[in-house]
Amino acid sequence: MRYLIVSDIHSNWQALRAVLGHAEGAWDQALCCGDLVGYGADPNPVTEWFRDHGSYTVRGNHDKVSLDAEDLEWFNPVARAAAEWTRTALTRENAAFIAALPRGPLMIEDFEIVHGSPLDEDDYLAAAADAHQAFGYLERRLAFFGHTHLQGGFVWNRARVETIPSFIASEGPAPVELDGECAYLINPGSVGQPRDGDPRAAYALYDSASKVLTYERTEYDIEGAQRRIMEEGLPAILAERLLVGR
Ligand code: ZN
Repeated sequence: MRYLIVSDIHSNWQALRAVLGHAEGAWDQALCCGDLVGYGADPNPVTEWFRDHGSYTVRGNHDKVSLDAEDLEWFNPVARAAAEWTRTALTRENAAFIAALPRGPLMIEDFEIVHGSPLDEDDYLAAAADAHQAFGYLERRLAFFGHTHLQGGFVWNRARVETIPSFIASEGPAPVELDGECAYLINPGSVGQPRDGDPRAAYALYDSASKVLTYERTEYDIEGAQRRIMEEGLPAILAERLLVGR
């Protein structure tokens, strides 16, 4: 099976649309490591695409707070404003879809998907030391995660945990043949709000037959996404940061 793996779309329809065009014909099933919504201005088209075409989606922290204010106190004022706006913007059907999203880990074929870490959807796996602990909680040798918005991840090669750097795809698609003796925590990067200094939309492709993973980046209509954020009266910083990818 060929999988399209995305994460952290954050209501950025322009970015998701570009990824779908770029990846056309390269996948059989689409899956998302969470955060369909939050930050951006188009939660409905993004959610509708996953309702109609997504095979598996786990809930992200922004998905959770877009429906339930309980955890909102942990959010910074900008993220909170976006979450509150998202709650009013979502259609009833899309809100119901998000409310029903499973909390990870979700087991799929030979891998699993989570939002933050296998332990907690709110954990950030940003450094090798965080990943070292997380590997102990994996049920499969391969897991996809998101939440940090950094494309790359970690490989456990039986001796130690090494970081797969986030700039790996910057020179073009970067295929990695997975070694059955190792374990992997792979972050496809963020579609809608990259934070690794590369503003292009990030995603990954995984072929479970050949065990080849490919990191991808694609340009998208950043100006269009920024315009939508301003039209909806969301905080300007949410538009500005898309241009720098931070
Ligand atoms: Zn996110």
